[in-house]
Amino acid sequence: MAIRPILTVPNPILKQVSKPVKEVTDETRALMDDMLETMYAAPGIGLAAVQIGVPLNVIVMDLAREEEDPKPKYFVNPEILEVDEDFVPYEEGCLSVPDVFDTVDRPKRCQITYLDYNGERVTEWAEGLYAVCIQHEMDHLKGIVFLDHLSRLKRARAIKKVQKNEKLKAAG
Ligand code: ZN
Repeated sequence: MAIRPILTVPNPILKQVSKPVKEVTDETRALMDDMLETMYAAPGIGLAAVQIGVPLNVIVMDLAREEEDPKPKYFVNPEILEVDEDFVPYEEGCLSVPDVFDTVDRPKRCQITYLDYNGERVTEWAEGLYAVCIQHEMDHLKGIVFLDHLSRLKRARAIKKVQKNEKLKAAG
């Protein structure tokens, strides 16, 4: 396993549409292992493969609270089958948009289907933080970051902030 660098906005790779995975192989699992380690190190609760520069339909997530044991979840080729009519606001953040948080409205629940770490098909309803997180991560697979749900002004301001912070980091 290895920690990989996380791409930040406005890196154009983050706008790429990710491709489906043909089959869940050891190579896919190695990618998911790296993604999980990268996500834990960040730290974050969800990561899409494109965020480490691999435009494939792969997501990892862990919504366990700090005092709980880790509960990693792996999603290959996830699809949303149905969404709730009710929308709820949630203050989101993103490892590709460090130190920026803003409120996004999304369907309260969604039914998803995906292949897990072993390539087994799982179909289930997600709600609460799980629903927010899976929709946020699945946006990444379409080249969308949560800033794209905000006003143009807020988006521009956020990107400027990230670029400034990255420059400061690079300068040490
Ligand atoms: Zn994100």
